[in-house]
Amino acid sequence: MTRWVLLFGLICAGALDAKGFVVRPTEVQSREYRELAREIDQSGLLRDIATELNGVLRIDQTLGLRFAECGEPNAYYDADAREVSVCFELVEWYYEHMADAYDTDEELDDAVAGAFVFVFFHEIGHALVDVLDLPITGREEDAVDQLSAWILLDGAEGDQAVLDAALSFYAASESADMVDEGEYADEHSLDQQRFYNMVCWVYGSDPDGYEHLLEDDYLPAARAERCESEYAQIDRSWTRLLKAHVRP
Ligand SMILES: [Zn+2]
Repeated sequence: MTRWVLLFGLICAGALDAKGFVVRPTEVQSREYRELAREIDQSGLLRDIATELNGVLRIDQTLGLRFAECGEPNAYYDADAREVSVCFELVEWYYEHMADAYDTDEELDDAVAGAFVFVFFHEIGHALVDVLDLPITGREEDAVDQLSAWILLDGAEGDQAVLDAALSFYAASESADMVDEGEYADEHSLDQQRFYNMVCWVYGSDPDGYEHLLEDDYLPAARAERCESEYAQIDRSWTRLLKAHVRP
């Protein structure tokens, strides 16, 4: 698993250049995660990400970033602790559920890193909405999916990270037999919807460059028609929302 840690760091470094964000100690109880926790601590991964974020954004409050053993494959923002936690179990989940879609271990490592970095920026999005008191209409879950995609699409190889993350949502939808009634009431869009949204934003960021997404049937033509204007709106909106908080 060492390689995905390095890839995750590279993608983040590519997406953003360097206060407010601080690294909190990794939380781990089980023996099985100790080695991974040690690798992550030694890699300086979160420290590098915090430095990059602090270089771009001016934030008065402290926002913690940590890896944790959570007991479930998840990632979350705790508004009371002002802390983003990403779970070791989520990495495992990705390896288990995305393996069939990739031919080699290297491709799978890349895809896990991509999916993970997307979720990381999604949670940082919740943190920014909270501490910067950003106005959001519609569902915040959709808005921070947009933010994560927007950050990544601005960085080197970030497009592939968004597509890998899209695939992770597709894999999640495939692993369930049917949609549970509660999912319709959930604050998140359905996994299939998140898949199509993310593919749409990648395509919309550069329709000529990503025409193959249409040819390979990743995106129905009816949705594709509006993706360029949809992504342009995301770009305008998040640029304005963060403008007062970006360092000159
Ligand atoms: Zn969320």
